[in-house]
Amino acid sequence: MSTFKELGLNEDLIHAIDDLGFVKPSDVQLKAIPILLEEDKDLVALAQTGTGKTAAFGFPMLQKIDVNSRTTQGLILSPTRELCLQITNEIKQYGKYCKGLNVVAIYGGASISEQARDVKRGAQIVVATPGRMKDMISRKMVDISKIQYSVLDEADEMLNMGFYEDITDILSHTPEDKSTWLFSATMPREVATIAKKFMYDPIEITVGNKNESTSNVSHEYYLVNARDRYAALKRLSDANPDIFSVIFCRTKRDTQKVAENLIEDGYSAGALHGDLSQNQRDLVMKSFRNKQIQMLVATDVAARGIDVDDITHVINYQLPDEIETYTHRSGRTGRAGKTGVSMVIVSKSELRKIKSIERIIKKQFEKKDIPSGTEITE
Ligand code: ADP
Ligand code: MG
Repeated sequence: MSTFKELGLNEDLIHAIDDLGFVKPSDVQLKAIPILLEEDKDLVALAQTGTGKTAAFGFPMLQKIDVNSRTTQGLILSPTRELCLQITNEIKQYGKYCKGLNVVAIYGGASISEQARDVKRGAQIVVATPGRMKDMISRKMVDISKIQYSVLDEADEMLNMGFYEDITDILSHTPEDKSTWLFSATMPREVATIAKKFMYDPIEITVGNKNESTSNVSHEYYLVNARDRYAALKRLSDANPDIFSVIFCRTKRDTQKVAENLIEDGYSAGALHGDLSQNQRDLVMKSFRNKQIQMLVATDVAARGIDVDDITHVINYQLPDEIETYTHRSGRTGRAGKTGVSMVIVSKSELRKIKSIERIIKKQFEKKDIPSGTEITE
């Protein structure tokens, strides 16, 4: 089986897939879609970021729900607000020919009463962050007692972010006989615990090596004095005038400062972090998506799972505390078969970390020099 049609997807979905220009299913889609379409089974799917997981659960869910009913039948939990919106938009596109389909995003920082109203109008699918979902359940603003399909997207990240209790609480309000589909890039113990607790004899699929980062990405590091970090960033950007990149900083404060400095110095940049209002976050994401800004300076949490087309570079302005986070960062580029570069600006004291990352991603970094001023102007 190699086409979407052969996987058993219906006409409405095939029509949308044609519009989207998806030619053939990705590996995780090949493995997951037939299972999810055929049986009401639980599924644990391990696949790296950028492998097309949204469609892997989105298509089967769209095909299985009853769009003529106004009951909420599908629940998708995702770790961040941005991801929640991204998945919602994606599912809406996949289901654009499913007449009567209603998908609603539920996340913090936006009006809870408006979200409750939208759900009440008859949302068959709700995409939510755990915190806001729990809040709405306790206020009886949403009824998830008829859920048939629940998805835990980026399960490892949700648990990393401390959502274990919220997730447990939310799932306890759903029917026992629903199906649960868990998607994760990695399988830490917490994810295994959740799977054991809430899933019944799940089918497990793994795509690729779970610790290997996207093979389309090359990795480079630039050794600098810690105080030259910002100058190095500007040089790297000057040397790549068509750059379209996410720049990762460790703290909200640094994120804000680097973005402000870049803007002041005439670069096309914006900041994305948790201290901004939801409105500001939406705005900056929108201008980044539309390529109105070339450089999105972000914290890990805010940028988690973001899927923006054609990101050419990921720049690690500072390395993350957790080495595993590097894989998620570099996964922002090299998506959907394209190539990308993940750059790290390091000071001497952090060189050890590069070695540890190489062990995890099973790839070598190329040591490169910051381009000099003359090289850039030449
Ligand atoms: P993941 O959740 O695994 O990180 P996404 O679901 O966000 O990945 O998909 C990554 C990108 O690949 C998206 O832009 C999506 O539209 C695109 N995509 C998904 N499936 C296919 C496919 N079969 N063919 C081409 N592009 C695809
Ligand atoms: Mg995803």
